[in-house]
Amino acid sequence: MNRNKTLGEALKEGKARLKGAGKENYAFEAEILLEKAAGYSRTALFLRREEWLSAECVNTYEEMLNQRERGRPLQYILGEWEFMGLPFFVGEGVLIPRGDTEVLVETVLEKQKEQAETNPLQTVLDMGTGSGCIPVSLGKYGDFREILALDISPKALEYARKNAARNGVAVEFWESDLFAAFSQSRRGKLDAIVSNPPYIPQGEIAGLMEEVREFEPHNALDGGKDGLDFYRRIIKESQTWLRDGGWLFFEIGYHQGAALLALLQENGFVQTQIRQDLAGLDRVALGQKPYGR
Ligand code: GLN
Repeated sequence: MNRNKTLGEALKEGKARLKGAGKENYAFEAEILLEKAAGYSRTALFLRREEWLSAECVNTYEEMLNQRERGRPLQYILGEWEFMGLPFFVGEGVLIPRGDTEVLVETVLEKQKEQAETNPLQTVLDMGTGSGCIPVSLGKYGDFREILALDISPKALEYARKNAARNGVAVEFWESDLFAAFSQSRRGKLDAIVSNPPYIPQGEIAGLMEEVREFEPHNALDGGKDGLDFYRRIIKESQTWLRDGGWLFFEIGYHQGAALLALLQENGFVQTQIRQDLAGLDRVALGQKPYGR
């Protein structure tokens, strides 16, 4: 401890420790933590291998490695993570943005483009926003007049607000259990609702990776007995909040495609569709509230 080290030595030690702790991406993680501790870019790390690290940087780095060995997610240790090329603050109490969720955002953006002339999607609500990565990306890359987002968790909303400000996107936030405390004046007026709700079947939570199981908020993961509780509630309630012709977009688990199609159709949604992620697994479900009912 606290012995002076060169960057190269610190990196080597970090890799060995994280490898020993069974972290699959130990090399990448050791690099990214040292980058943070030393305040250098990745390239600089490699160019300055012989340089001495200050005792303070060594301490910071070792404390980060300790936390990582105990299973704390890399993203929480860093305090931020990237989604859709944008930076987001993260920490305990908020789900870490996943690359998979980019497929959901891209689906919404694509639908907005496709229908720009015929059925413009101008007002969108993100249900269960967490870090706010969905509404912030929609604001950055889409063409919305109003972006709304809600969450039941005050902690998540704290992060989401900071993330909207950090990325310069105007989002109207609501603390609400689904639609319970949401703006009554929005009834029948939303053009789109998007959601990445908790969808892990309760019985599978115990089998999740340690990082997820022990550190991420279970209220962002636990979808009830079959994982579909929130889809049932959101699909049912969405009907009164979407305007005719409005769209509902969900992230789903890879084994939930058929169930989601059935739920959407039973509830009168049309143009229902399932989309796949980069691994070819079902990841997104969408459907439209029909016109003139
Ligand atoms: N994809 C997430 C995970 O497996 C689950 C997110 C969710 O339940 N919405 O960690």
